[in-house]
Amino acid sequence: MTTPVDSFADLGLSASLLKTLAEIGYESPSPIQAECIPILLEGKDLIGQAQTGTGKTAAFALPLMEQIDVKLTKPQALVLTPTRELAIQVAEALQSYAKNLPGFHVLPIYGGQSYTIQLKQLSRGAHIIVGTPGRVMDHLERKTLNLDNLKTMVLDEADEMLRMGFIDDVEWILERTPAQHQTALFSATMPEQIRRVAQKYLVEPREVKIKSATATVAAIRQVYWQVSGMHKLDALTRILEVENDFDAAIIFVRTKNATVELADKLAARGYAAAALNGDLNQQMRERVIEQLKSGALDIVIATDVAARGIDVPRVSHVVNYDIPYDTEAYVHRIGRTGRAGRTGNAILFVAPREIRMLRTIERATRSPIAPLTLPSRADVTNKRVAGFKEKVAEVLNAEGLDFFANIVAQIAEEQDVGAEEVAAALCQMAQEGKPLQIPGEDPAPTRAPTPFATDSRRPASFAERERKPRSDERGDKPRFEERGERPRFEDKPKRAAPPSGDMVRYRIDVGRDHGVQVKDIVGAIANEAGIESRFIGRIGLYDESSTVELPAGMPAEAANALKRTRVRGVPINLRPDEGRPDGDGERKFDGERKFKKKPYADR
Ligand code: ADP
Ligand code: MG
Repeated sequence: MTTPVDSFADLGLSASLLKTLAEIGYESPSPIQAECIPILLEGKDLIGQAQTGTGKTAAFALPLMEQIDVKLTKPQALVLTPTRELAIQVAEALQSYAKNLPGFHVLPIYGGQSYTIQLKQLSRGAHIIVGTPGRVMDHLERKTLNLDNLKTMVLDEADEMLRMGFIDDVEWILERTPAQHQTALFSATMPEQIRRVAQKYLVEPREVKIKSATATVAAIRQVYWQVSGMHKLDALTRILEVENDFDAAIIFVRTKNATVELADKLAARGYAAAALNGDLNQQMRERVIEQLKSGALDIVIATDVAARGIDVPRVSHVVNYDIPYDTEAYVHRIGRTGRAGRTGNAILFVAPREIRMLRTIERATRSPIAPLTLPSRADVTNKRVAGFKEKVAEVLNAEGLDFFANIVAQIAEEQDVGAEEVAAALCQMAQEGKPLQIPGEDPAPTRAPTPFATDSRRPASFAERERKPRSDERGDKPRFEERGERPRFEDKPKRAAPPSGDMVRYRIDVGRDHGVQVKDIVGAIANEAGIESRFIGRIGLYDESSTVELPAGMPAEAANALKRTRVRGVPINLRPDEGRPDGDGERKFDGERKFKKKPYADR
């Protein structure tokens, strides 16, 4: 990596925050963090452009933490995010960075959550508010959210807010924030409208853009597995087991803590594995690398910095267990295999939200990365059986089996069974604790889609989440990685092939006269009620109102959220449609939408 900064300490962060980062296991700043943190600490406005997964949250969250006056229980920073999932994620991240800041309060506010609870939490006083534009507007209008003490405003995923039709709301909010404040805008892309907003509301912003340098990667087979249906750890061991010509591997994760956790788990599964991270001193590090060279270790789990420059020819595989921050890091990582003229293998785990990064890596390295089909249980069994047979064959070729042959004959006679049965019993003994078959079942094909967020996907209340232990997989990383993808409208054309099932028509109080477009309605409904956009049926745009078809059997919670949802600042007042105004001006519908699958999750 060309990151000029290796350590958070070089960025001007306070000792207490550095301690927190060390505890969380962040070893070094990502490129966007290294560039943005000093600028934001200086109080300057900023436009940050970098892809999903590059660490933008900490890039703004860490400087925010430095500014907060805990004694002042008034909102001092406001972060706008396009979806409630993101609002929760960002709030969780902020909370984790506030580990050593007693009394710190961050409050996520988003549609679909009860006003009573939000009002209570707001009145209790929070230092940072993270919210979706609609709900924030609402609270500003009701004067339940006061921004008089605001120091910093962050627009996170600005392009996504634009895509979802929230940009007017964002401007509305920007117009009502105190004149004196710092503004940071983050976006993966920089469409014209976002530029315009930046020009209008940011003051002499500094721009940071993380670009992807191109580089060629030779003689390395590159594949990726899209994380789904199975824990990364289980997938990893399955893959490693059936990979041909596996000799040794370096597995890359993002945090120091994750190196240790994964090393322990792999060791528990019988692998000779160890962690390699910045906490180890030079001597210990060299020892780990020596052991990998000599074969005392087969797997090393490393962070980017710790693995820099490792040259161990027997490394046949590099696994990107956590996706790298940028293409340069990717190229560096996979360069640890395929050394000394051997062919190497690079395996990349990609969460649904990281698909864009995958494509960027492909472009930057100018080489396609093929999808990897996860080995089935049968594949693993076959591989284990083949290995077992080989071992038996080796022994058969050895001399001096007469003694044992005699014992087998005796057992067969005494038990009145054939030699085959005796052999089977001996096989079982030989494999005790090392089963040839993996227990359990292959993951079922992805579950039938449901229109409303199911319980597991629906964000629990923030307080509830804080108490829930994280899945053991995730270590210190926030918990959202395996959570379902949030609606992305560019992927799912709104008029796509409809599912089948009963639809109910609702009326809403916004129409063409409000400047509303179909995408605004879809965006608001998807976001506020947690309905995936593809389950939203036909939309009829009239002048003063509109109709929208939604799957029958809507849970009360979602219905309530939708009564108060706003589109372009106007409460939509969603209710079942009774008749319609005389047909004029009705939008032409295209396509019926029916659900093939059961439309609602069992709740
Ligand atoms: P983005 O907002 O750019 O999509 P996130 O801020 O959500 O990216 O970060 C992606 C992941 O990387 C998160 O799991 C986060 O905890 C992790 N992460 C961010 N910065 C660091 C760091 N410096 N060291 C280790 N992990 C990090
Ligand atoms: Mg982000």
